[in-house]
Amino acid sequence: TYVVTDACIRCKYTDCVEVCPVDCFYEGENMLVINPSECIDCGVCEPECPAEAILPDTEGGLEQWLEINTKYSAEW
Ligand code: SF4
Repeated sequence: TYVVTDACIRCKYTDCVEVCPVDCFYEGENMLVINPSECIDCGVCEPECPAEAILPDTEGGLEQWLEINTKYSAEW
């Protein structure tokens, strides 16, 4: 799955939401999040993010952000 990280906080762009083929972006408290069980790993959103906030979870060290993405996308 892809994960939204801290660079997204208070970001006002929604380019990622527009390109996601499965609409798996959701609104967190002050950032967007990706629902890990809906993300199909297509990678389309990563280059579209002007804040470079979206990373694949294979990067490592993103456990905390994966948790946040999971938590906030589950509330919908
Ligand atoms: Fe959506 Fe693809 Fe980005 Fe996953 S990797 S959030 S499916 S655009």
